[in-house]
Amino acid sequence: MIEVTSDLLCTKLKKRAPDTHKGDFGRLTIVAGSRGMVGAPMMATLAAMRTGSGLTTLAAPASVVSCVAVGLMEAMTLPLCETEQGGLDASCMETLLPHLQKQTACVVGCGLGVTNDTKQIIKNIIENTKCKLLLDADALNAIAGTPELLQSCAQTPVVTPHPGEMARLCGIEISAVLSNPAKLARTFAQTYGCVTVLKGHRTVIAAPDGTLFHNTTGNAGLAKGGSGDILSGMIGAFLAQGLSAVDAAVCAVWIHGAAADRLSEHMALTGMLARDVIDELPAVMKALD
Ligand code: AMP
Ligand code: MG
Repeated sequence: MIEVTSDLLCTKLKKRAPDTHKGDFGRLTIVAGSRGMVGAPMMATLAAMRTGSGLTTLAAPASVVSCVAVGLMEAMTLPLCETEQGGLDASCMETLLPHLQKQTACVVGCGLGVTNDTKQIIKNIIENTKCKLLLDADALNAIAGTPELLQSCAQTPVVTPHPGEMARLCGIEISAVLSNPAKLARTFAQTYGCVTVLKGHRTVIAAPDGTLFHNTTGNAGLAKGGSGDILSGMIGAFLAQGLSAVDAAVCAVWIHGAAADRLSEHMALTGMLARDVIDELPAVMKALD
């Protein structure tokens, strides 16, 4: 098992050349949000932009876009048709699929809700897009019990389950996930050909070739709604910038935890918010420069 360190990250992160332009840092789309879950898409999008994505688009139910667009000045938005309940309508794929064909990477699932429509949408995205994919939260719940769908992805996908999502994905009890997370993450990654980020106090990252990474940054200040959405946006940003699926996951997991650790030097873990972690990201990355 390889321990993730700042030295390891320095070998993986790319420097920004002075004469560079936004097209060099990829196009990322975040498909997220539903009525009652408008914070998740917002945090994933902000975290992606703070992690260096070149052009970031939030694709969400139209009413969610109306709520959050004003807070996402640097992002573009793609308002999508929604059901009466305020989740994505399956017919949104007529707009979303052509859009995704032009993107480098796509993060899907944060605050999406689980309905028959979202299940169809996730399957459709997996089977019909060529860009790099990260599946989190409700995208994982949408394929619970059918993880073999991941094998249809055009490029090595990243999945970011917490133990509850991992249990649903594999159709096992949470206690079975927690009894040996590293072994389960590795078996899952090898079986389905995906980078598996099994989140927790000490997150493990498994690559499809069986390589295992162990992260030691992060603290209990992250045990709050929004922390996972930030991580997804960050991994998506690194995917968009050209890092491999495993490098994107390793770098984002370490930086995410390191931001919380930096905050803990002057902030009680009790009062730390996901938004604070997002704002701390540039300082952590400055120290890696
Ligand atoms: P989620 O459950 O999807 O919101 O993800 C929570 C995120 O916060 C993951 O990246 C976890 O690794 C991290 N996290 C949650 N609780 C802790 C903890 N006690 N110590 C370190 N990291 C944590
Ligand atoms: Mg989550």
